[in-house]
Amino acid sequence: MTRIPAKAFQGEPQDYRNYIDGAFVESGTEMIDVLNPANGRLLGRIPDTGPDQVDAAVKAARHAQAGWERLPAIERAGYLRQVSAKLREHRLELADVIVKEQGKVRGLAQVEVDFTADYIDYMAEWARRIEGEVLTSDRPNETMLLLRKPIGVVAGILPWNFPFFLIARKMAPALVTGNTIVIKPSEETPLNAYLFAELLAETDLPKGVFNLIGGRGATTGEALVTHPGIDLITFTGSVGTGAHIMQAAGRNLTKVNLELGGKAPAIVLKDADLDLAAQAIHASRVINTGQVCNCAERVYVERSVHDALVEKLAALFQETRYGDPSVTDDLDMGPLINRAGLDKVAGAVDRACEQGATVVTGGKLADLPEGFHYEPTLITGVNAEMDIMRRETFGPVLPVQPVDSLDEAIALANDSEYGLTSSIYTCDLNAAMKAARELKFGETYINRENFEAMQGFHAGRRKSGIGGADGKHGLYEFTVTHTVYIKG
Ligand code: NAD
Repeated sequence: MTRIPAKAFQGEPQDYRNYIDGAFVESGTEMIDVLNPANGRLLGRIPDTGPDQVDAAVKAARHAQAGWERLPAIERAGYLRQVSAKLREHRLELADVIVKEQGKVRGLAQVEVDFTADYIDYMAEWARRIEGEVLTSDRPNETMLLLRKPIGVVAGILPWNFPFFLIARKMAPALVTGNTIVIKPSEETPLNAYLFAELLAETDLPKGVFNLIGGRGATTGEALVTHPGIDLITFTGSVGTGAHIMQAAGRNLTKVNLELGGKAPAIVLKDADLDLAAQAIHASRVINTGQVCNCAERVYVERSVHDALVEKLAALFQETRYGDPSVTDDLDMGPLINRAGLDKVAGAVDRACEQGATVVTGGKLADLPEGFHYEPTLITGVNAEMDIMRRETFGPVLPVQPVDSLDEAIALANDSEYGLTSSIYTCDLNAAMKAARELKFGETYINRENFEAMQGFHAGRRKSGIGGADGKHGLYEFTVTHTVYIKG
């Protein structure tokens, strides 16, 4: 029987079951505790799924795939719309689950749920536009068709920072194009995915098309990415795990789609609207407590406006409201995801100070009784060699470096192993267009915060990823082409 999400975390924490072949099944394995990062309270337990049940999930997806592919795409879209309608029905309760499980502030959790439902509908709209091509043949009386087909069975492996949306980013384009899927959420934030499955189970979606298995990366994740029955691994997470998965996938030559980390530069020129730049960069850095792959993590500002920008940023950082989002609604940010995340952020700031940087504001653990909270932190006196300008921090920490020209800023921005997103603040169209031409990133935001639209193409260069997501190009990542030669 389905738990209503609003009641999911009431009373004793419960054990959640995997969703395989249209049924919730016992796993009989070790269970993993899922905690609220703001206060350490136990929310529930999920299985650390073993290879046998991973195999059962992949086989269920394989079994369902042929029939699913045969359906007209518009019928597949109809099932997706049933799912998005269910999510909208339970939007408040689902947001509450994300608040408690991930430590996201309520407003942003609500945006995540609503965006997820919209995203599923957006991908459903592609049903009538999955297009092949008619090619010109070299031979007389011959027609060539380039058909576009599903890949087959997809494994979707998710991180914890936008756990709910990322289910849809993998599932919706996979399903509308005729694939079936096995989702493994992050062991840090799996409960929203289990509730997603409970709502999806109330729709008419055929069994086996969507399967959910929980577990750790080293156990369940590893069994899934090395399974020979997987045709595409779509992974969002860290560079290290992405590289490992690519290697593991090599065993079966499984195709990979990797959305990895970032160290997004923001360039601020002397003619910029500094209030706009400060607000957008501050918002980028504290949203989701700085745990967003595409948000500005390093600033290059023209020297003549460095102090003015730092002053404005400092005021915003000092006004940032933080705390436990499961008890307070009006917050800008919550805790970091876990002890390791907190240690990473604190360590990055300490190391920057050892290397000669100056903390303008913040720079220490927040004075709160429980949870993994770190103060919003602004840092100056940095240079291009420091780790804080090169490694992903994934927390509410912003280093600002002065530069003497746009050319210098672009060169520093590009000198990174990451290449996901970038931004520039300027009123000079020529400067903005030069940046758009010369920045080597998947996205550039001009005079606005970094937040991608579902019709774009979210794709990293260098170690930020392989392939991408969203829009037509993201949809086609879940397809293969098949050339047919028709003589006569
Ligand atoms: P992570 O790499 O630690 O874990 C991601 C997922 O991989 C989890 O589900 C984990 O269980 C699984 N995993 C770990 N080891 C595995 C293995 N050996 N085999 C298979 N699966 C395995 O990442 P995280 O800490 O959850 O997420 C944060 C990272 O994600 C950051 O680096 C962030 O930049 C990145 N991210 C990128 C994007 C993007 O669109 N590019 C979006 C969100 C997050």
